[in-house]
Amino acid sequence: MKENAALLTHASQLLTLRGNVAPRRGSRMSDLGVIPDGAVLIANGKISAVGTTDELRKQSTNADEIDCRNKVVLPGFVDSHTHPVFAAPRLIDFEKRIAGANYEEIAAAGGGIRASIRGVRESSVSELADRVLKALNEMSAYGTTTVEAKSGYGLDFDSELKSLEAIQRAAQRWPGTVVPTLLAAHVVPPEHRDNPDEYVRIVCDEMIPAAAQRNLADYVDVFCERGAFTPDQSVRILRAAVANGLKTRIHIGQLTHTAVELFAQFHPASVDHLDHLTDADIAWLAKTDTVATLLPAANYFLGLSTFPPARKLIDSGVAVALATDYNPGTSPTTSMPFVLSVACTHMKMSPAEAITAATINGACALNLQHRKGSLEPGKDADIAIFDASDYRELPYWFGVNRCWKTLRGGTP
Ligand SMILES: [Zn+2]
Repeated sequence: MKENAALLTHASQLLTLRGNVAPRRGSRMSDLGVIPDGAVLIANGKISAVGTTDELRKQSTNADEIDCRNKVVLPGFVDSHTHPVFAAPRLIDFEKRIAGANYEEIAAAGGGIRASIRGVRESSVSELADRVLKALNEMSAYGTTTVEAKSGYGLDFDSELKSLEAIQRAAQRWPGTVVPTLLAAHVVPPEHRDNPDEYVRIVCDEMIPAAAQRNLADYVDVFCERGAFTPDQSVRILRAAVANGLKTRIHIGQLTHTAVELFAQFHPASVDHLDHLTDADIAWLAKTDTVATLLPAANYFLGLSTFPPARKLIDSGVAVALATDYNPGTSPTTSMPFVLSVACTHMKMSPAEAITAATINGACALNLQHRKGSLEPGKDADIAIFDASDYRELPYWFGVNRCWKTLRGGTP
């Protein structure tokens, strides 16, 4: 019987990344499990077999065939860090920053995060959902099939819950997988500037329980940084997350250093940014399953000359993931291939390491490694097909889109 079966055939290179249920480290990040003249058999949204075209043709005589000649076929990208719920691009920031303005001058001109907060508070849930959906569709056009999506520009009870509802509504209209995260602890909103602890209390006692009860978030994230939330406040927020049955992830070390081990008790799925870290942080990360998620598109867009120390992290045995950090202030890109390119050229990751970081290690950063991130029987048929004959072309061609097709649960 033909059960919505499809057979991808004749891929120049099929990147399976098979053989994982744990994040990849060190030299294992370079092992893409390449099958030349590769094929994938899909049935009912799942992968039922991978192999060479000859092998799979014998197994399947009645599937619809998709000819992947001169194409690279790989697991769809897992973009494990995005902020898609915002109302408008931040063009004041962009132009003023180019002209050399600092944070205060940008804020005085009406830019900065306050502009995004105002935009989200004034938008309806359906307006926000439409914008999130547009971003998700752009992402899948670039090969992404799973997206972590954070709130974080509402910063009051109603606007944070509205942001999570917008993510949920957009996710229902998109065939890929969306993982929602409450980032109410992004910055302290203007009305609580004089009493940040009162805002932390509202996050812990009101927003986190409501998000959990309404099933609107899987994770709680916190921006632990000078000018955002202190380590003590971050611990309180993450403790509330765990108490409400939610998992944790942390923005840390973007502008200043904070020891990642302070948060060991929460077993964060991922710690993200890591521009500033010490040998002790690296040693701790190397022995945990917490993934180090690097966001080099933000460094690129801010015009920074420094990047997170990807080489040192990988060579020390830390599991590294890559994500876009899609957001209106510091990383307005939906393109994972662009992130791969920056990772290779500016952080000296190899093309194979970058692909591993954007697929199976991204899946681990979302605790989805049993369903996502590699092409293996039983996993979701989340597949990206690129107009290329060699996987090294993915980060090589930058600023253009070579993604030919994306399947999300087998759906084009
Ligand atoms: Zn972020």
